[in-house]
Amino acid sequence: MFSSVLIANRGEIALRIARTARRLGMRVIAVHSEADAEAPFVAFADEAHCIGPAPARESYLVTERILDVAKKTGAECLHPGYGFLSENAEFAEACAAAGVTFVGPPPSAVRAMGLKDAAKALVEKAGVPVVPGYHGDIQEPAFLKEKAYQIGYPVLIKAVAGGGGKGMRRVDKHADFEEALASCQREAQNSFGNAHVLIEKYVLAPRHVEVQVFGDKHGNVIHFFERDCSMQRRHQKVIEEAPAPGMDAATRAAFGKAAVDAAKAVGYYGAGTIEFIADGSRGLRPDGFYFMEMNTRLQVEHPVTEEITGFDLVELQFRVAAGEKMPVAQGDLTIHGHAVEARLYAEEPERGFLPSTGTLHALQLAGGEGIRIDSGVLEGGEVTPFYDPMIAKVIAHGANRDEALDRLRDALLDSVVAGPKTNTRFLCALIDHPDFRAGRLDTGLIDRNLEALGAVPPELDRAAVAAGALALLGEEQMRLADAGLARSGWASDPWSENDGFALAPGRKGSLRVKAEQEEIVLPLDASASEIGEALPGADRDFTLVAGGEGIFVLDRGRQVAVSIPDPLDVSFDDHGGDAGGLVKSPMHGKLVALFVKDGEAVEKGQRVAIVEAMKMEHPVLAPRTGTVEGIAFEAGAQLGEGARIMVIAEAE
Ligand code: ADP
Repeated sequence: MFSSVLIANRGEIALRIARTARRLGMRVIAVHSEADAEAPFVAFADEAHCIGPAPARESYLVTERILDVAKKTGAECLHPGYGFLSENAEFAEACAAAGVTFVGPPPSAVRAMGLKDAAKALVEKAGVPVVPGYHGDIQEPAFLKEKAYQIGYPVLIKAVAGGGGKGMRRVDKHADFEEALASCQREAQNSFGNAHVLIEKYVLAPRHVEVQVFGDKHGNVIHFFERDCSMQRRHQKVIEEAPAPGMDAATRAAFGKAAVDAAKAVGYYGAGTIEFIADGSRGLRPDGFYFMEMNTRLQVEHPVTEEITGFDLVELQFRVAAGEKMPVAQGDLTIHGHAVEARLYAEEPERGFLPSTGTLHALQLAGGEGIRIDSGVLEGGEVTPFYDPMIAKVIAHGANRDEALDRLRDALLDSVVAGPKTNTRFLCALIDHPDFRAGRLDTGLIDRNLEALGAVPPELDRAAVAAGALALLGEEQMRLADAGLARSGWASDPWSENDGFALAPGRKGSLRVKAEQEEIVLPLDASASEIGEALPGADRDFTLVAGGEGIFVLDRGRQVAVSIPDPLDVSFDDHGGDAGGLVKSPMHGKLVALFVKDGEAVEKGQRVAIVEAMKMEHPVLAPRTGTVEGIAFEAGAQLGEGARIMVIAEAE
């Protein structure tokens, strides 16, 4: 076994690989971007080396920087994880040239499976069923259109170099073909630098079933059964499970054989996945599935296979890379129970699944029986716009599918994430959707049920707003009391009806509270019962997390942020024209320089400060011409996102 490993990846997968490597006695060497300097995978490693700025193409994708670290540290092997350089044959070759063992398949296999057309042709020769279609070299539009007609609509146009669900167009009518082809080729050229496409029959009610294969360097190839990844949106996996619902022994044997044949056709070793598409309308059958592509790496969803087989696939990757034989034979493998994985994302299903970034003010992922959590972030950490906004993979194992699904849903509901919005509520709705529960799966299920799954703009939950408003009012009254503005005897429990709220004698102020796009004005001397009447539901069972500029009110996986708007913040005023005088920190970071003093005159657009975040400097500019007032921090201070640094008072 190797004595050291360099992990050329980040986040949860880097941490997951590092844990196995450490258990096997290896020295763990991490590489990271500037944005990841504080990340848990960096802290976990025995040593860590910065390889460049936040954008992946300047760090995680730079072969030379990574291999420099490998040489400098004497790393014996390199694990690429998934994504980044994991399916890059040149990178694997560069590792070999640098004397570092690449923990992955032979570069020739990566190359052979790299383009969808060549891969299809190759496995077809090995007797593996492929989706009917055309995957030849001729790319003339008229010729391809004729082929589409022969195949029969609907067809799918696929970029041969495509990946990640990009570069695909479904065409339903002959008349629409040219336009779809042109747009697919444009996207393929722009995204992958290769405009070649193939045409295939569009499988109706498609089910995505993939088989985990494993080979060693001695010619043995076996499979670790299948995973069903039909729960997708925009061709990206949302929930994965093993085994596939409705898979009988004969069908499983047919899938397994096809997968092993495909892997053997390219002399495969290491971990790989053969993706098949099945016609879900007819159920899974030995003659009803087709090869789609091979992923020549570890998959995001490998934990469900580990849970049902009891094998650590990363350990097997290391053993195979070190030249060991597969420690098991096909006949020794059995399936134990059922496992399901949900990808917990910082995103808003309610708004087209837009990523949601920012500080994780709370992150408590619930454990429990049969629950495994693979996460790469911690409470207080950031979800940045630089990388995939996945917070964690939550994996549940159970004696059967229903038990696994129940455990998964309960673990998600018991988890607390505040700051970025998450897809928790959406995942739970999907887990309990009647079709999904019944195993009536196909890749269109999510899109057909967006409304039922709550992935539509929600009504503002007034009860949640009430709970947040009440908490903020309590804080504000407490602050006034501390400042001696309130009547003495301010109750220690702001929720208690009997004590009422502190009143500032003769002072009838009000508190403005903002939730999403709405504002509520509350009299500062309101009593709890008055507020309860005005804002019913505040006593529902919410989880409140203070953070940022206010309070996050969490209710079964959905979050409403309630805050006190700054009166000078224009985003809350609709005066238009005037940019307002508030100078806020654009992000969570450090105030590294302050260029002005209180009372100083500044011009609109003048640089007044610099905030450093993730090793990058962000100039802060005066929003208008005027005089600096109320500088709230000194240089060196840590600033929260949106922290008020100063105000520029309008020039007379
Ligand atoms: P990528 O490399 O971008 O992941 P794939 O070829 O693996 O592309 O396809 C991604 C997804 O697109 C599949 O999981 C499936 O949902 C859908 N898909 C692919 N081929 C077909 C087809 N012939 N008919 C219907 N859906 C398909």
